[in-house]
Amino acid sequence: MVLLMLMITADLENLTNLQPQFGCNDPDFSYMFKVKCGNCGELSQKETCVSLKETISIPRSRGIAHLFQKPYHRKFPWTRILSYIQKPYHRIFPCPRIINYVRKCKFCGRDGTVAMIEGRGQPLTHSQSQSGKYAPLMLFDCRGYEPVDFLFADGWTAESLEGTTFGNIDLSSGDFADYDEKGECPVTISNLRSTFEVVK
Ligand SMILES: [Zn+2]
Repeated sequence: MVLLMLMITADLENLTNLQPQFGCNDPDFSYMFKVKCGNCGELSQKETCVSLKETISIPRSRGIAHLFQKPYHRKFPWTRILSYIQKPYHRIFPCPRIINYVRKCKFCGRDGTVAMIEGRGQPLTHSQSQSGKYAPLMLFDCRGYEPVDFLFADGWTAESLEGTTFGNIDLSSGDFADYDEKGECPVTISNLRSTFEVVK
């Protein structure tokens, strides 16, 4: 099991708090990336698309509660109970594991899963952008697969430095430009960059 944090940055001109439309835990926000098999190194041809709202459960797997999605799964009410119990006790409960993606490698046949762990993302601020720092967006628990090449698409929001909100930003073309009436200045997003960083 490898925990990988998706880190993003961009050049923000007169903008701050770049994040998914409804925040970093937006259940509808789609994360698109390719996956690389940890066994044979095969890279998927197409991007995979995952979101917090779409989950798959693996029955009778020994789960760790922090891997469960919140809000708790209707079919597995004990996941909510688990989230209130202190961490060390999590490991003693055998329970279904909730994941967001499962795939069999086309080349070597090995199964791989990706689970999203919410609550770890933060908006990219203007000052982080200025200093070239990356902001964490989403944490992925990867088993057998490694996500690579995150694709920026639509569903983003950002605020101007004067407080105007710009919603439904589409970054699939690689940039965004608009005008802030309040601040009487152009607002742009460009030079999008991302990386998956190992979290220990
Ligand atoms: Zn493989």
